[in-house]
Amino acid sequence: MSSQRARRRKAERIRGLMETEGDAINENVSRMNRERYAAAERFEAYEDLRDEAREIKENAIADLPALLDTLRESVEANGGHLYLAEDAADANRYITTVAESENADSLVKSKSMTTEEIEVNEALEQGGVDVWETDLGEFVLQVADESPSHIVGPSLHKSREEIAELFNAVFDPEEPLETADELTEFARDYLGERIRHADIGMTGANFVLADSGTITLVTNEGNARKSAVTPNTHIAVAGVEKVIPGAAELQPFVDLISKSATGQDISQYVSMLTPPVETPTIDFDRPDEPLGSGDDERDFHLVLIDNGRLDMREDDQLRETLYCIRCGACANSCANFQHVGGHAFGGETYTGGIATGWEAGIGGEEAAADFNDLCTGCSRCVNACPVKIDIPWINTVVRDRLNADATPSEFEFLVEGLTPDAEGTVDVQKRFFGNFETLAKLGSATAPLSNWVTSFGLARKAMDRFLGVAPERDLPTFQRGTLVDWFDSRRPRAPNATANRSVVLYPDVYTNYVLVERGKAAVRTLEALGVHVELCPPVESGRAPLSQGMIATATDHAEALAAELDPYLDADFDVVAIEPSDLAMFRREYEKLVPDDYDRISTNSYDVLEYVYGLLADGASEDALAAPTTPVAYHSHCQQRTLGLETYTEAVFDELGFDVETSEIECCGMAGSFGYKSEYYDLSMDVGSELEGAFDDPDRQLVASGTSCTEQLGAMFEAGVVHPVELIAPDGS
Ligand code: SF4
Repeated sequence: MSSQRARRRKAERIRGLMETEGDAINENVSRMNRERYAAAERFEAYEDLRDEAREIKENAIADLPALLDTLRESVEANGGHLYLAEDAADANRYITTVAESENADSLVKSKSMTTEEIEVNEALEQGGVDVWETDLGEFVLQVADESPSHIVGPSLHKSREEIAELFNAVFDPEEPLETADELTEFARDYLGERIRHADIGMTGANFVLADSGTITLVTNEGNARKSAVTPNTHIAVAGVEKVIPGAAELQPFVDLISKSATGQDISQYVSMLTPPVETPTIDFDRPDEPLGSGDDERDFHLVLIDNGRLDMREDDQLRETLYCIRCGACANSCANFQHVGGHAFGGETYTGGIATGWEAGIGGEEAAADFNDLCTGCSRCVNACPVKIDIPWINTVVRDRLNADATPSEFEFLVEGLTPDAEGTVDVQKRFFGNFETLAKLGSATAPLSNWVTSFGLARKAMDRFLGVAPERDLPTFQRGTLVDWFDSRRPRAPNATANRSVVLYPDVYTNYVLVERGKAAVRTLEALGVHVELCPPVESGRAPLSQGMIATATDHAEALAAELDPYLDADFDVVAIEPSDLAMFRREYEKLVPDDYDRISTNSYDVLEYVYGLLADGASEDALAAPTTPVAYHSHCQQRTLGLETYTEAVFDELGFDVETSEIECCGMAGSFGYKSEYYDLSMDVGSELEGAFDDPDRQLVASGTSCTEQLGAMFEAGVVHPVELIAPDGS
């Protein structure tokens, strides 16, 4: 299949899912996300607990072999059995053997993604065992014969109306079911019967305590506990990563998991079971008869699944995935997920940003190839993750590994030489977007001809066909005169002898070649506030190649820029960035790309409005800046929000007396090159549609901090969009 056909198919699939599942997903996931924010705000110790939880997980995974030995001793001392399954087939062999030895006809299950992963239902059903999902969401999917779309709420893609229609059609109740209460009550009664008569109960385990063999189930429905303790035999299935040392280490997770998942302070049920439980089995047909001791009747099997996890533990880049406590917050916080859901943004089993780590770890990188690009690297999920997993980095690493396996495109010649990169063979679309600096240099040097050529219909068709550039998008307008040209043309300028501070302004690719006016405005603003300004050479930060998973190229860029910044940092200059995604590189990704330079660059780098705020707070006169001339509608960039910097822009506007309406929308949908890609254009616009309403006042000047947001807002509202610094800069040249 040609790349263009593959892209079209992907676009169609995404469009279809947005139409059929998008509304239900958006409503449910956005609500959970809002409630998570509120829960985190209510809970003072939230950040401390995240640190604690992270440390516990790091240590538990490091000590895993010893913990598994301890756990085996505990489970066996309790009278249970522990089986460490190498892979899904091994686990299913063991479980079906247990079912055979029990002559089991039926098994009831509580929700467990690990059992989805090993497809245990199919294995048991082939052996003649009736399997019933007792979690309401899983039951809905079992009846509908669909796969989960979310790791916490497997049927979040279905509305109440759809579930009612399904139940009424399948079960034909005396009175049609309609309300949520009616549906829940029906499922509870229906499944209660199955639990009572089941031969085996199967649960997952949110956490397994090595020192006691205790499994902890954190749920909002009573079905897991009932499934565990009602039948004689209990099988718990969990990944090996669920093992922690003991009860002392459990508390932070119980506190964090419900807040992160659903925004509840605590889940309805937190069950700590140390099976085989001594509670005797209840005979529901003879409930009045005295119960026996139960000691001999109960059986317990803990099946721990490796299935690639022990290799992930040895993989420096994927290991973090094992810290995941499956709360779903990364999915809930992700704008793309909120609009398309886990049937597009997920693999065979796992969904959302962290799905890349899980699917690649258990099924190989290819298992994540189809959805990995839906992570745009905004990093909002890192702030949402209770164990601080760097989910975008895991996505980037897997993207990089997938690039290494890419087959050369027949259209490689189109970008050969034009887009040099360190990776060798990379998908031609990725090479194109990952080498934007080269294109920008060429586009600027040949402007306005380059702009004319790329606006030409035939050229756009070719770009769509060969490079996957969405024809609906306006391309950046390259400027013949760059920011660096302009800055140099102002020389010779005597160093500002009265300056209190010295700044090296970073001329990022967009500012230098496309949005030159915002660069000039930044220079004028800083100088007006008494700062001596220099420009470093316009070396791309590595953001563009990194977004395409081209880590080697990104590292080359980062090293080159670090070398350019080095003498300025030696001379006590501060680094000021205009483009938020580049500042995010300095403050975050440079830790991985240029670890030796990271501390110095990250601690001395500032967003331009953050820097202006600091100067004003230190006594610089706001009279030097432009007075407000127009009311403003402001949208901050997702990377700014992740770094917690948007408040500085708001504070500066406030200080200068601007009438500002700030958008609460977290993502404009563009996300760098993402919205330019043919296959993601519709999704990008759907995410951006949330901005409608926030920016519909034609009398307000649209203002955005990032290039992507500028493009998206301009396209959506057909209006000029400026950077905040352009509004506050004094006139001048
Ligand atoms: S990666 Fe973090 S946020 Fe995502 S499901 Fe795992 S623990 Fe939750």
